[in-house]
Amino acid sequence: MELWQSPFFDNALRQFLTAAEVMNLDPNITERLRQPARALVVSVPVRMDDGCVRAYQGFRVQHSDTLGPCKGGIRFHPDVSLGDAAALAMLMTWKCALMGLPLGGAKGGLRIDPTVLSRTELQRATRRFTIELINMIGPDRDIPAPDLGANEQVMAWIMDTYSKQVGATRPGVVTGKPITVGGSLFRHEATGRGVVFCVAKAAAESGIHVGEGTTFAIQGFGNVGAIAAKAMVEMGCRCIAVTTSRGGIVDRKGLSLDTLYACYRERGKLVPEVTGGDAITNDELLGLECDVLILAAQANQVTAENASKLRCRILAEGANGPVTNEADPILSEMGILVIPDILANAGGVTVSYFEWVQDLQHFFWDADEIEQRLKKILFQTFDETVALARKYKVGLRTAALMKGIGRVAQAMLLRGLYP
Ligand code: NAD
Repeated sequence: MELWQSPFFDNALRQFLTAAEVMNLDPNITERLRQPARALVVSVPVRMDDGCVRAYQGFRVQHSDTLGPCKGGIRFHPDVSLGDAAALAMLMTWKCALMGLPLGGAKGGLRIDPTVLSRTELQRATRRFTIELINMIGPDRDIPAPDLGANEQVMAWIMDTYSKQVGATRPGVVTGKPITVGGSLFRHEATGRGVVFCVAKAAAESGIHVGEGTTFAIQGFGNVGAIAAKAMVEMGCRCIAVTTSRGGIVDRKGLSLDTLYACYRERGKLVPEVTGGDAITNDELLGLECDVLILAAQANQVTAENASKLRCRILAEGANGPVTNEADPILSEMGILVIPDILANAGGVTVSYFEWVQDLQHFFWDADEIEQRLKKILFQTFDETVALARKYKVGLRTAALMKGIGRVAQAMLLRGLYP
């Protein structure tokens, strides 16, 4: 049994092996890339507010540092597993390489429930976790970012702890920080906006009109989903449905995003009495007839069991892994164009890279410049991926993986095997 075994890692590995086969990857490179380069598992003892001590499990997985320092989020969740982190670290390697960033892939996790910890407990847990990882992270080694359950404040605590330890302020040790302590403008918008840049490209590519009259539905109304919805509406599209973890709303005539935001902020859920429209489940959202479906919540949402009921023309993976390997061929058969996660949500890591570069040079760019730089990289990568898909007669997912894997493989061959 693989040390990294988890359904998510199996999925990531199968995707890698499929792309490796199509591109006829050197078997020695396949052997080196099929598992993470290293992982550190730590115990994180935390003094709770009532005086007792609780020890939480934490870990950081680095899949590859061939192209540069590792990059990837830190997840604070009681169920986060080493296998899932390994899968996400592998995806980060391909994503960074696909976008042409000089970074490798990593992911970390701390098995806590941040929603039940006080602010002081969360701060102590974050600082102790940082100390446990201190020899592994750093601006030239591995640069964490927020993921599920971690936020800007957590990044500021990690940055402060690391800086105190090395004796100088080092904002480049993490990204996704508050602006005041070295965060980047446009980082908050980057993933959602990037999803919509890709939707516009995919629509143009397949002759689908995106603008007045185009309908879209969104699963997930957090950072990625809400920003993507706003960008779609700005292009003239009509939002017909939104769901969150507590269900959602549908109205084919169109929903008001401002009303949805206000309702979600105040009540923590979407209720028809406030938003208008009718209540809808997540399952029902997937089967709605619409031009664009954006999945911006969780992994494994579209499976072999429910894929055939989808009625969209373009599906954008704002989340990581929302369409399973088994569902992919079904969607392709149905003529649904899937924009794969490592391309669709790569706006986030690309602007994280911009944040790191700005921190290292102590010089900060304005939001407009960042948006334009992101657009240029995403558009170019999209075009290159489409060209590769045509050349090898494969879907966009395999093409995007081939592009990312190809860059890492090339660098590995040039660097050779030490010793
Ligand atoms: P978030 O926590 O801000 O929002 C998540 C949203 O999804 C919430 O509205 C939540 O209610 C909803 N949700 C959760 N489970 C759901 C379910 N089963 N059905 C429907 N809705 C559900 O998270 P986010 O930052 O928007 O990230 C969303 C996804 O995108 C995650 O998978 C994340 O890993 C991925 N991602 C995020 C970024 C980023 O920059 N934030 C970058 C790349 C990938």
